[in-house]
Amino acid sequence: MSVLLEATGLRKSFGPTDALAAASIRVVAGEVVALMGPSGAGKSTLLHCLAGIVRPDEGTVRYQGADLAGMGDRARSALRRTDFGFVFQFGQLVPELTCLENVALPLRLNGERGRVATSRAREMLAELDLTAIAGRRPGEVSGGQGQRAAVARALVTGPRVIFADEPTGALDSLNGEQVMGALTTAARERQAAVVLVTHEARVAAYSDREVVVRDGRTRELEVTR
Ligand code: ADP
Ligand code: ADP
Repeated sequence: MSVLLEATGLRKSFGPTDALAAASIRVVAGEVVALMGPSGAGKSTLLHCLAGIVRPDEGTVRYQGADLAGMGDRARSALRRTDFGFVFQFGQLVPELTCLENVALPLRLNGERGRVATSRAREMLAELDLTAIAGRRPGEVSGGQGQRAAVARALVTGPRVIFADEPTGALDSLNGEQVMGALTTAARERQAAVVLVTHEARVAAYSDREVVVRDGRTRELEVTR
């Protein structure tokens, strides 16, 4: 199995707070990994280190063998735009743009021409059963629809890894299930790995593997699905 991400011995402090003390994780292509654990345990910080958003004080993060710390800022942000996709709890869609324009945006930022970006964004929305809301702005759709549009936006560039931080945290359970179903199905069909932060067991149930984070330390949980 091909290893996409490998983090070893991560330590990260924010002032007096040790967010990560000894965190290690390995993510292979096509798998869905859930980072579980109580609030404040270090899950988001670990996710941000893996995504190259936060630089650990100690330890290394390798993406396809390359040390993220050894890359320049430009190379790292280029990598985030081309190889990574992000879904957050809220607020990630641009309110002034339609859902279609929101989904097309990452392609435009990557230099794709308008017509191509729009047509790929349409296909992505169709795949997630969102054609009906293509022309609406985020304020005119339900929370679940908006979050599925955010999934479409994360997937449209064809990333190898999707990072999702509490992607269903603001949704009721039915919408949460729809979002998790859309995220994991679309990712699996593309052989993209998903690294998911959640404190909810029913969200983690969509994963192949659970890693528990507690006091900044990771522990692999044996789960059989
Ligand atoms: P989780 O995602 O498990 O809730 P976080 O990774 O968000 O945990 O946070 C771990 C600890 O680090 C918490 O005590 C949090 O308050 C602290 N922390 C995280 N990010 C920052 C930051 N940017 N500045 C200061 N403290 C932070
Ligand atoms: P979570 O919902 O995963 O616990 P938080 O709401 O704690 O996440 O944190 C959201 C964002 O705020 C993260 O980027 C985290 O790094 C940052 N953060 C968390 N705690 C603090 C803090 N005490 N000071 C500054 N930033 C923080």
